[in-house]
Amino acid sequence: MKKPTAEERRHRCTRKRRYRSQGDALDAALLAGVERHRTAYLCPLCGLWHLSGKQAGGS
Ligand SMILES: [Zn+2]
Repeated sequence: MKKPTAEERRHRCTRKRRYRSQGDALDAALLAGVERHRTAYLCPLCGLWHLSGKQAGGS
């Protein structure tokens, strides 16, 4: 697998909504009704939280 470049990683950060805390991120997922499919992670680039899609079914 190709590793994401720094540019791609920055994009992944700037294109996403940022949340001040994990709770904020999960609240937003809850409101959108997608909490089962999202997980919050702490972004190393901006130090805030983003929501990430959970992979269903492993592999
Ligand atoms: Zn970020």
